[in-house]
Amino acid sequence: MDIINILPDSVANQIAAGEVVDRPAGAVKELLENAMDAGAKQIDLVLKDAGRTLIQVTDNGSGMSDSDARLCFERHATSKIHRSDDLFAIHTMGFRGEALASIAAIAQVELRTRQHDSELGTTVLIEGSHITDQHPAACPPGTTLAVKNLFFNVPARRNFLKKDSVEMSHIEETFRRITLIHHDIGFTLTHGGKMLYDLKAGSMLQRICGLFGQPMKERLFNVEEETDLVKIRGFVSRPEYSRKTRGEQYLFVNGRFIKHPALSAAVEKAYADLLPERSFPSYFIGLQVDPSRIDVNIHPTKTEVKFVDDHALFAILRSAVKRALGQFSLGTELEFDTPEEFNIAPAPKGYNPPQPRISYNPDYNPFRATPAQTKMDLHGGGGSPRSTASADDPRQMPEDDAIAMPHTDSMEQRTSAQCLQLQGRYIVTAISSGLAIIDQQRAHERVLFDRMMQGAESTMPHSQALLFPVNCRFSAADADMLGELLPDLRGYGFAIDPIGQCTFVVSATPPDFKENELQAFLDQMLTDYKGATMQKYADRSRSLCASLARQMAVKAGTPLSQEQMQQLVADLFACPMADTSPSGKRIITIVKPEEILK
Ligand code: ADP
Ligand code: MG
Repeated sequence: MDIINILPDSVANQIAAGEVVDRPAGAVKELLENAMDAGAKQIDLVLKDAGRTLIQVTDNGSGMSDSDARLCFERHATSKIHRSDDLFAIHTMGFRGEALASIAAIAQVELRTRQHDSELGTTVLIEGSHITDQHPAACPPGTTLAVKNLFFNVPARRNFLKKDSVEMSHIEETFRRITLIHHDIGFTLTHGGKMLYDLKAGSMLQRICGLFGQPMKERLFNVEEETDLVKIRGFVSRPEYSRKTRGEQYLFVNGRFIKHPALSAAVEKAYADLLPERSFPSYFIGLQVDPSRIDVNIHPTKTEVKFVDDHALFAILRSAVKRALGQFSLGTELEFDTPEEFNIAPAPKGYNPPQPRISYNPDYNPFRATPAQTKMDLHGGGGSPRSTASADDPRQMPEDDAIAMPHTDSMEQRTSAQCLQLQGRYIVTAISSGLAIIDQQRAHERVLFDRMMQGAESTMPHSQALLFPVNCRFSAADADMLGELLPDLRGYGFAIDPIGQCTFVVSATPPDFKENELQAFLDQMLTDYKGATMQKYADRSRSLCASLARQMAVKAGTPLSQEQMQQLVADLFACPMADTSPSGKRIITIVKPEEILK
């Protein structure tokens, strides 16, 4: 008995569609690419319900003839290649002739198209691979393709779609990957009647700003290089604007977004040690290579690509980025190094520590430190005590010393004991069990954290409206998570609201919060939060408080007045877990009297 039969086209197309169009963003990509291949200079994308019910692309490109308007929905129908040799000189985005056939198999599609030299256009209606109508239509030159009710006949796929915000962020990412590199074409994106992007044709930098906001302009360096092998054009972020997550990293080859771990590594390598630990540069880099030097058999939904000359490309790209970074004298003004361990040189024999000459601010409250106060202290303090730090014979503090909890000390004694600041980061003071060496930043973190966890009204940070609200961008997943945390953050003095799928506007922060650190802070907070093993309420607030405390704590390198140090020490010793910071790092090391004697 024969059991093999040939699948009808509609079924074959539906199967193929599974590869090309797995979600609305897949259809968006194909339609935008077709419009670009048709030579359009303006392309408008309109969506409803994150593309579920409508994805419509209108272009002012070549348009199609009446019969092409039908033929384009056939499998392997393409005007872009004619013979296999053409595969080695691809200059268009598409060439497989699969996209429209696939989309028409799983949606209700309306095509309206007119060539520039025709008086009349044509409309074709097709659904589930069957043409249901075609008639002449009066329409402007170019093409409008509307995809309605995607997956209407594939319930399994329809049900597999994520909530609108997720589908929308996939679409926005697709939109960025296409529009970033095709900045000579105007694009708009409208969702549910609201225009989210209106990108005019212009330079790449203008396009980057159109997508990511105007502040990007000040954050980028230009990268340019031309060799026989490759032409490189693009932008990389200044090291101080690196991010805690690999967010805005875009590489393109011949107008196509690609993922290429080795080339990405080349860019990151160029930064070498200019970047703080675990932070990543943003980059937008287009490469132009001879099409015969790359593997053309690019899968429509995959972004991997193979180069014949990848070693040479790696070297060229790295040096181009390096040069872009090197043109500007960086490094000297950037201080990234925050050693984790205590490393204090003992005072030389017979050394008699002078009284610190440090300015005194009677109004100081460590939880309301304003930048102005910090600045004042920077000039007033930190003179003599630093001389001990430069003594020879540096020695590691013994780390295994048990911490004698100084509860035996009366409050009176503690607050009145003289403090000495070492290296701008340690406070040294006498307690009954010896000499306490306290990491000022961790100590302050602990104090702030405990206060926030107690939620004491008086110590809750107040809110301060920003003169210029700041936009922050996140990956789809991070944006979702941040959305969940917004009510909590409000409780700590932030006013953050979503605008667009992955962008949030911050209009208020706790006082003294540095605006330019907002993105970094929120990135770090989300990273911390992800790291928190459980997301029960208790852990959520723990994680938020720890992030906030870290952000707001007085940093190593900030000179403190005698009063400030005494206050901090007193507050620290009032904490039940004075010896470890919220993130589990050691705050105090005690040198016992016996050791001092030795
Ligand atoms: P491919 O892009 O791989 O050729 P598609 O299925 O995406 O395959 O499109 C089939 C053909 O339909 C294209 O080769 C092109 O000739 C025509 N076409 C599709 N979209 C447009 C458009 N917006 N304007 C003009 N022609 C188009
Ligand atoms: Mg195509």
